[in-house]
Amino acid sequence: MSLQERDKKHLWHPLKQHQTHPNSLGIVKAKGCILTDEKGNEYIDAISSWYTCMFGHCNEFITSCVYKQMQTLDQIMFSDFTHEPAVKLSEELIKILPENQNRIFFNDNGSTAVEAGIKMALQYYFNKGEKRNTFIALENGFHGDTFGAMSVSGLSVYNGPFEDFLMDIERIPVPNGTNNKEIIHQLEKIIAENNIAGFIYEPLVQGAAGMQIHKADDLNEILKFCSENKILTIADEVMTGFGKTGNHFASNEIATKPDIICLSKALTAGLIPMAITSCTEEIYSRFLSNDMAKGFFHCHTYSANPIACSAAIAAIELLQTDEIQKNIKQISNAHKAFEARIKNHSKVNATRSKGVILAIDLNTNSSRYGTLRDQLLQFFMDRGVFLRPLGNTIYIQPPYIITDLELQKVYKTIEAALEIV
Ligand SMILES: *Cc1c(COP(=O)(O)O)cnc(C)c1O
Repeated sequence: MSLQERDKKHLWHPLKQHQTHPNSLGIVKAKGCILTDEKGNEYIDAISSWYTCMFGHCNEFITSCVYKQMQTLDQIMFSDFTHEPAVKLSEELIKILPENQNRIFFNDNGSTAVEAGIKMALQYYFNKGEKRNTFIALENGFHGDTFGAMSVSGLSVYNGPFEDFLMDIERIPVPNGTNNKEIIHQLEKIIAENNIAGFIYEPLVQGAAGMQIHKADDLNEILKFCSENKILTIADEVMTGFGKTGNHFASNEIATKPDIICLSKALTAGLIPMAITSCTEEIYSRFLSNDMAKGFFHCHTYSANPIACSAAIAAIELLQTDEIQKNIKQISNAHKAFEARIKNHSKVNATRSKGVILAIDLNTNSSRYGTLRDQLLQFFMDRGVFLRPLGNTIYIQPPYIITDLELQKVYKTIEAALEIV
């Protein structure tokens, strides 16, 4: 029996309506940019398996570092012990994170990185003796699927059954270059009427919203307002982190630095789940006390797993090589050229790109939203390209090691798709 058939017996997949979409493609191998299915068909992984495998699948440098670590120290509790991979990773990360970041806290995934960030902000004020219970978040933001992360997420299609159980959130529009005055006005009203603990945002690119891009200066005005008004800022860089936007972190491009940063996805280059919530020394210092209860009592069993840390250290080393930095620039330039080529196509509503991220909004009847997505996905797979459209938006976020030949094939396949929508 095929993987696809055996899968149906016991498995429950995420983000799937199994009644209408019973099949999951069996993948047997992934190497570089290429996925191989159980029938031997090959696909270019043009979205880096959800923005994780940025250095290619089964990258030999990273797997060799992980293999070495596996033979030395596999797992040790991080509440009473420490180890070289965690210490080294903290040192390497602090070197490249925005200059105000000084503390590294470990989690298992992007949602819990956000969850810990939210809890840090709440307890920061609690420890100061201030009661603050509300967060500000951007419309259409996505921050994950645990309760705190769901609360601050603005994409309600995912949250319907849980809405009665979510935290208090005030939502503001995404800055678009013309609405900053209104946003600041709205913020003044929000802080007058609520006890705001923090503002959470995806800096520069909102991923799940369809790779929506906003300007650093516009976002900076909001962050400046928050910092002047003692509202902690939480940058969710789970998607944008580690080079995607052309910088190591999107926050590097924005003048006002966040108090807290959430990292995951490309952190371990797709090898092992891990996440990090970093923060400033000022936040950390508010948890220091002779009173046990003022400490941060949030822990995941696999916190700072040494094997996961070794993958992250290797990935950060690769990220900083001239070769990878050159690749990022080349992909970014290729995206710009492709945008210029297709932007006037009658089926293209808008294009945008930043770093290795490119998005194309299709000019199609919105009632086809769900079926069009399925049709496009199949069209791409039939031609050996894995792209996962978000409704009417096709986006690319290829591994940094994609060859020009592979990238051109992705573009050509998208161009072919424009003729069938
Ligand atoms: C994917 C993502 C998350 C959630 O991460 P998981 O590891 O899937 O829990 C949170 N925030 C952003 C911006 C993301 O892209």
